[in-house]
Amino acid sequence: MNEKQLPFTHEFLEQLTQTYSTPFHIYDEAAIRENARALNGAFDWVEGGFKNYYAVKALPNPHVMKILHEEDMGFDCSSYIELVLSERVGVTGEEIMFTSNATPLHYYKKALDLGAIINLDDISHIPYLAGNLEMPELICMRYNPGSLKEGNVIIGKPQEAKFGFTEDQILSGFKQARDLGAKRFGLHAMVASNELDSAYFVETAELLFDLAKKLWKRHHIKLEFINLGGGMGIPYRPEQSPLNYQEISDGIRAAYNSTIRDTEFGPIRIVTENGRIITGPYGYLVSRVTHLKDTYKQFVGLDANMANLMRPGMYGAYHHISVLGKDDSTPRRLYDVTGSLCENNDKFAIDRELPEIEVGDLVVIHDTGAHGHSMGFNYNGKLRSAELLYQSDGTVRLIRRAETTEDHLSTLDFSEFD
Ligand SMILES: *Cc1c(COP(=O)(O)O)cnc(C)c1O
Repeated sequence: MNEKQLPFTHEFLEQLTQTYSTPFHIYDEAAIRENARALNGAFDWVEGGFKNYYAVKALPNPHVMKILHEEDMGFDCSSYIELVLSERVGVTGEEIMFTSNATPLHYYKKALDLGAIINLDDISHIPYLAGNLEMPELICMRYNPGSLKEGNVIIGKPQEAKFGFTEDQILSGFKQARDLGAKRFGLHAMVASNELDSAYFVETAELLFDLAKKLWKRHHIKLEFINLGGGMGIPYRPEQSPLNYQEISDGIRAAYNSTIRDTEFGPIRIVTENGRIITGPYGYLVSRVTHLKDTYKQFVGLDANMANLMRPGMYGAYHHISVLGKDDSTPRRLYDVTGSLCENNDKFAIDRELPEIEVGDLVVIHDTGAHGHSMGFNYNGKLRSAELLYQSDGTVRLIRRAETTEDHLSTLDFSEFD
């Protein structure tokens, strides 16, 4: 097995824990930038210009958002707060894709106020939006291909997923929107999550290109862009291989050339809204071993818990763990690596073979740069950790402080007890 690499030395992290107490997430700016450039470079053939709208929910931190915006990304928002975050970092208008579902009206109001591209999740949202607010000039709709496409564990089967319009609804939805005043149109689908097979993205593009053609034939509606969604996966396990952007891009380009290019309904811009692959591999949760427990199994207790990283407890997801300062001569043992939450699924790893661990060891949990800190919750009075940025110049900056007891209690009314 190839061990996953860390951009930091053991010494560097030990030193850092003298300034910032564990646990914390730390993000690698240089690697995030390099990766963003690789993605954009692979799609440089796109007519009208490729753009990835970074899915803000993956890592909603203004400092990381600023970096991504500097690397030509827009933002995919799905809630009021994500829209506000985008506004606060100075990104508005068509650099925002607003892809939500079961959408409260005030979210749409905010999206309209910011001039964001609204991506509707359901045909009933056409009268909901137009009747209560207005039909914008530019409108996008989310397609759910149903049984045309297989799903995966995280997102489920498309026909059971709550997202998107059926094909008939898409075809009549665009016509309805046009009748209500829309003049510019985008089509979206997101049917994958954490997918590592590049063919999957090419097939999704083919489905959407075919639908663009049908829409033209049926209603003479020409799409301005096709949004292929997010869902590009990352190799959480050391034996997995990363996706190859060029391979995906080449496949999509071939499909584009055969269905869209030089037709009367082309050109159509291609955009995506990836989150995980953009920042996921470049974040690390650093935590200290506080306890060892020997009962029916060997347990390692960390100062981090599910509030810092939900994915293992929520989906049984694998996150690689490095124990710092151990080498090949350290004997290995099987451990369950746990947090202190009163839930038995508060485990970062189950039956994981790791170098023999001692109390006080520093461990790094890999691939926490997306859907890591942001998924955290406060159940059981657990506080969310700080976030640090390992900047391109080698210095470290605190980009979110850790929550405090006062933060946690601040929404309660203690007036009669004080
Ligand atoms: C979560 C989400 C994304 C990003 O998904 P990743 O797996 O992080 O790439 C993109 N679009 C929508 C609509 C989403 O809900």
